[in-house]
This record gives sequence, structure tokens and C-alpha cells, in this order.
Amino acid sequence: MNAVTTNSQQQMQTADTRQPVLSEAWLAPRLVALTLLAIVLSFLGERAGFPHGLLLALNIVSYLAGGFYGVKTAIESLRQGQIDVDLLMVLAALGAAVIGQWHEGAVLLFLFSLSNVLQDYAIGRSRNAIKSLFTLYPEVAKVRRGEKVEEVKITEIELGDTVLIEPGERIPVDGEVSDGSSAVDESAITGESIPVDKLTGDRVYAGTLNKVGILDVLALRAAEQTTLSRIIKLVEEAQESKAPTERFLDRFEQRYAKLIILSVLLFIIIPPLLGLTDFQSNFYRAMVLMTVASPCALIISVPSAFISAIASAARGGVLFKGGASLEQLAATKVFAFDKTGTLTIGEPRVTDLLCAPRITEDELIAAAASVEARSEHPLAKAIVAYGERAAVTLSRPERFSAVPGHGVRARVDGREIRVGRISQVERVATLPDSMRQAQSKLESDGKTVVAVLRDEQWLGLIALADESRAEAPMLVKALADADIISVMLTGDNRRVAESIAAEIGIERVYAELLPEQKAEILRELQAEFGAVAMVGDGINDAPALAMAEVGIAMGGAGTDVALETSDVVLMGDRLERIIDAVKLSALARRVVKQNIAFSLAVIALLTLGVFVVELPLPLGVLGHEGSTVIVVLNGLLSLLLLPEIRRRRLARKR
Ligand code: ADP
Ligand code: MG
Repeated sequence: MNAVTTNSQQQMQTADTRQPVLSEAWLAPRLVALTLLAIVLSFLGERAGFPHGLLLALNIVSYLAGGFYGVKTAIESLRQGQIDVDLLMVLAALGAAVIGQWHEGAVLLFLFSLSNVLQDYAIGRSRNAIKSLFTLYPEVAKVRRGEKVEEVKITEIELGDTVLIEPGERIPVDGEVSDGSSAVDESAITGESIPVDKLTGDRVYAGTLNKVGILDVLALRAAEQTTLSRIIKLVEEAQESKAPTERFLDRFEQRYAKLIILSVLLFIIIPPLLGLTDFQSNFYRAMVLMTVASPCALIISVPSAFISAIASAARGGVLFKGGASLEQLAATKVFAFDKTGTLTIGEPRVTDLLCAPRITEDELIAAAASVEARSEHPLAKAIVAYGERAAVTLSRPERFSAVPGHGVRARVDGREIRVGRISQVERVATLPDSMRQAQSKLESDGKTVVAVLRDEQWLGLIALADESRAEAPMLVKALADADIISVMLTGDNRRVAESIAAEIGIERVYAELLPEQKAEILRELQAEFGAVAMVGDGINDAPALAMAEVGIAMGGAGTDVALETSDVVLMGDRLERIIDAVKLSALARRVVKQNIAFSLAVIALLTLGVFVVELPLPLGVLGHEGSTVIVVLNGLLSLLLLPEIRRRRLARKR
């Protein structure tokens, strides 16, 4: 059992059964309340003439409660040699106490810790939006083994087991319907809320909800490899990675905090020395200055927006592995699409068999299918499926090898069989003229034609057709409306590529590419247009996916290599979701800009207030913390909550 899923499941269980009593989520709001209580008591006590010692005790309580997490964070940062805004706040509060302004300092700590609690809550909401995916796994499943039906833990389901799923149950594995029919709600994986009809032979995904019928599902992926567990793993990683702007702001925080401390020190010393003002009121002003000038809102503006956007995208079926790709996507002007499996469904079917003289169809398909049985390529699967239907006997291949983008070869019954790209196979023997004409005719019809060779003898050609995805033309058009160019990159023949591109509405086609050449074309596109997004599914797309600023992998049909080298995963292969992701990334960028402009404006305004209208500390703190909360809420609202509401409303309308 893979550690990742076990961990995730353990986390999921501990999350909802055991909440540690002294967790920050539990303690922080209570400390905020205690701070407020101590402030109010001390304030009233002053009027009522409480003894001095009691008042001091109340003030100290308000400082300890209000400053607890600030001091803790400040010390943690200092240990790593870093200065952060928490330190500035703590210093300002201590400064206020030094000149006897206990109440003002306590109010500062109260508002600061309150705003931190609110921020944590808002950001926690985004995290929970993703965490809720954990709860999609049922704990046990009914599995038919032989004649018996057993109830087993889902981690004990083995490949090839048949899992029985009743209406209202969540599907525990990725698999294929082997019997029955139903409608399945796949919204957890794809974000699409309309149930999808499932018949025998259809794929189903772990975490999706069986609505009406009874399904027998053949388990095709072990629990730790299901689409859902991959999403969870990827999202966990995404939350740790930082966008470039965020990294920049982190560095900025350091310098800026040092600058503030230095200026405040100078400000405390110089004016009184010059006899411009008395020490006491100048010191107070310095504390206000330190508070309002610190960049709390600024540094939270980026991560809060991106966390919300990543959560929102994940709910819509697009998984960003980090803030960086979200930021990049907004700047992308070109989308490069792989053809097979990406623009097309990737389930080609054999349509024509062209046998060489004196070769029978059975001989042709048996040879090809024997070798392809070992390949993962969509063309291979189609050839094997055709062989099974034709009931030919397959032989065991030996010394199998596959070259991505070229084809496969193996020894079968002592003879070398090659299946693959015609130009590649022709290095061994030239295609007979009689077949060349038929080949070009098939290719102009958009069919992919592969060669089959036995030693140096041509066995024939196999033509396969793959339907383009219904949503592909829509996506290309929507991208064009957003001024984004679509191009096609494919290893397939030029005629096939052009015929399919025409159907979809793509004008720029690069065909007959080897995997490295896909990466090369990508480099050319980068030189011409800047940032490029690449969408692909296969091993042959991996170099290009890694090279692109934004690599987008098909999450359902995609190979593991593609999933790993990509920055973004499209759950359930829903191509049309790309346009939502593009819009969301543009929106996230706008929100970040708004937030940065807003926080800078508030800092400037409050700083001005310190000098012009002698802004009192509580007001300064209110403005400063208020802006921090507004920035976080702006991200949460416009990137997570509103899109979610819009999605729901749209779903209800249909
Ligand atoms: P795409 O870029 O459209 O996804 P590939 O790069 O995977 O296509 O494949 C390019 C060409 O290489 C195919 O059109 C086919 O001719 C040949 N090929 C690759 N793998 C195989 C295979 N397993 N069996 C037969 N032909 C293959
Ligand atoms: Mg492909």
C-alpha cells in the first residue's frame, strides 16, 4: 500500500475525530475574547477606581492573551534570522506600554490577533474546499470474489476485483463498468454536476456518486493510484509551493520590516534631540507609525488570493499544482495541443485493414495485436481490442520495446514484428506501391495508418479513426475570443493532423513530430509569443509539458509521466474547463493587483494621517488590520465563493 493514500486517509480520519484541545484554531479565538474582556474590565475599573495593582494585572492579562501568537510567530521568525510584521506589532504594543498607554497597546494586540483569526478562518475555508475531497472515499466496499460477496476495506481491493455498487454509494476505485447501468454524479472529479450515464464498458472514477442503478465495477487502478488520490496528493503539494510574486513579497517583507524599525528608531531619537517636540508624544507617534506602516495586508494579498483560486479551480475540475502556474496562465498567449488523446477522445477504432499480397487479415491483426498487447498507446489498445473481437490467437511477445512517437517491436514466434509509423518502418523495407495510394486516401479522411512488418516483409497497413472531442471546437473558439492562439502538435501524419485540425478550427498544425521535436517546437513558440501552455496526455508529450510555462495534463486518460511533468491536471479530461481556468487566472491576477494597490494606498493614507492629523493608535490599528481583513476577504469572495455560487446557479439552470 502506497504511503500517500494511507497518510491522506489517516489525516482525514484524525481531522474529523480528534481535534487537539490546544490547537491554534481552538485557542486563538478564545485568547482574542480574553483580551477584549481584560481591556473592557481594565477600562471600567479605571473609572470605578480599582486599586492600581489590579488594573496592572488586567493590563498584563490583555497583553499576554493578545500578544501570545504574535510573540510566538515573531520568535519563530527571529530564530530563522527573519524579521516579520508580527515583531513590528509586538514592539509597537510594548512601546505603548512603556509610555503608559496600556489601553492603546492592548487594543492594538486585540485587533491584530482578531484579524489573524479572521484571516486563518478565511484561508481555512479555501483549504477545506480541497480537504472535503478526502471525505469522498467510502471506507468499505462489497467485492465479488468467485461466488462470494465480501465486504473489504477499500485499500484491500485488488486489481481485477469486481466491486458491487448500489444506488447512493460512492465508487471506491477507478474502473470499468462490467455489468449494469446507472447515472453517476462525477462532480467531485470534474466539477460537472449533471450525472453522466454509465453503461457496460464505461470508465468510472473513485469518489464519484452512483445515483440510480446497480453497477458491477471492474477495479482497474489500485486505491493509491486512483484519480482522486492523485488529486489529493497534487493539491497537498500545491499548497506548499509559492508563486513568484509571493516569493518576491516575502523577500520584500524582510527588507521593509528592517527599514521600518530603523526609521522608527531614528524618529524616536532625532526630533526630541533637535528640540522639535517632547519625547513622550513623539514616541507615541512613532508607535502609531510603526503599526500603520507595516505591510500586513500587502504580504497576505497574494497567498490569500491564490489559495482561494486554487481551491476554486479544483472544485471546477482543474487542478493547479501551485500558484506559479496560475500566475503564468494569465500571461499565456498560445496554447499548444497534442492531438491523440487530447483533442481527440483517444479511443481510436480500427476501421480498415490493408493486407499485403498473400497475407490474410487474421495473420495481419494477430501479429500486430500480439506485440501491441504490451503497449499503453491508444492505438495499441484499439488494435488489441480489434484482435479480440476477431478472435485471433495471440502469441507471447519477447524482447518487447517501444519508442515513443515511433512504434513498437518484439519477437513473436521467432520473428521480428514491427508496428508503427510508416516512415519509421520503411527504413527496413519500402512500402509496396500498391498500398501507397490507399494509404494517402485513408489519411486524407483523417485516419491514422500504421504499418505492420514481419522481419523484412510487409504484412500490411491498419487504419484507425479517432473522434475529436465534442468540446474541442468550442474551446478553440473561446480561446480565440480571449486572443489566445491554438496550435496542434502531433506525432501523427500531416494529412490526418490537418483533417482533424480543420474540424476543430485550429489553423497552425505541426505534424509528424517526435517527442523531442514537440519540445523544440515549443521552444520556437516561446521565442515567438512568450509564455506557452501545452496540453497533452502521453509519454510523448512529457518533454513538451515539462518545457512549457504551463503544462496541462489530461487527468483521466493521461499517463502517469504526463501527470507528473505537468503543472496543471484536467480532471476527467474535461477540455472545456481550460477556458474557465484561463478566466480564473486572469481574475486572480486582477484580484492580486487590486489587493496590492489597496494595501499600499491604505499604508500611504494612514502614514499621512500620523503626521497631518495626529492619528491615534487605536484608529491607526483599526485601519491597518481592517485593510488586512478586506484583502483576504476580497480573495475569498471573488475567487472562491462567487465562482462557486455561479457554478451552482448554472448547474441548476440546466
Ligand atoms: P500524438 O502526438 O498524436 O499523441 P504519438 O506521438 O503518440 O501521437 O504517435 C505518433 C505516431 O507514432 C502514431 O501516429 C503512430 O503512427 C506511431 N506509433 C506510436 N506508438 C505506436 C504504437 N504503440 N503502435 C502503433 N503505432 C505507434
Ligand atoms: Mg497523445
